[in-house]
Amino acid sequence: MARRQKQPAIILDRDGVLIDRPLLTWRKSQMKLSKGIAGEIKFFNEKKVPVIVITNQSVVARGLISEKGVVNLHELLNKRLKKSGAHVDKFYFCPHHPSANLKRYRVICQCRKPKIGLFKKAAKELNLNLRKSVTIGDMTQDILAGKRAKTTTILIESGRGGRDYKFNTKPDYKVKNVIKALRLARRLIKR
Ligand SMILES: [Mg+2]
Ligand SMILES: [Zn+2]
Repeated sequence: MARRQKQPAIILDRDGVLIDRPLLTWRKSQMKLSKGIAGEIKFFNEKKVPVIVITNQSVVARGLISEKGVVNLHELLNKRLKKSGAHVDKFYFCPHHPSANLKRYRVICQCRKPKIGLFKKAAKELNLNLRKSVTIGDMTQDILAGKRAKTTTILIESGRGGRDYKFNTKPDYKVKNVIKALRLARRLIKR
């Protein structure tokens, strides 16, 4: 059997990007999709370009929600997207934090952005070509991770808009919001 060619993907951050809340998020009522995003995701779904989410969810380490609870929220988001004929192919999240309340999550892991453990995992599981993929984020950790993973990076000015200033890193592109970012990504993955 011929080996399938490695494919480009759209790699989204969750909070402040897929959903319009850039803060800690653990309740159903906080899961509001960013305006117009379903239609933009649908474009990639139809082109068979995987759309994945990679997100730090320290809410688990802080004891606000269980890992299963996070999985349930992601199912809820996909249910909402599916109403518009769109879907996220896979959600990946890091439940850890180096100073977590819960001891079992208090670790220096390889999956918390700006580390790229989850990018590598996704690339392996979904046969991705990271060099041809696009990372869209609203914080410096998203951009640094995207760069370390060799993807093209787009920082959006909405959400946190890179104003966390935690890591000194420069995105390849900076645009107003996630809709503009996904429009730009259409062109970038064709290259
Ligand atoms: Mg974010
Ligand atoms: Zn982790």
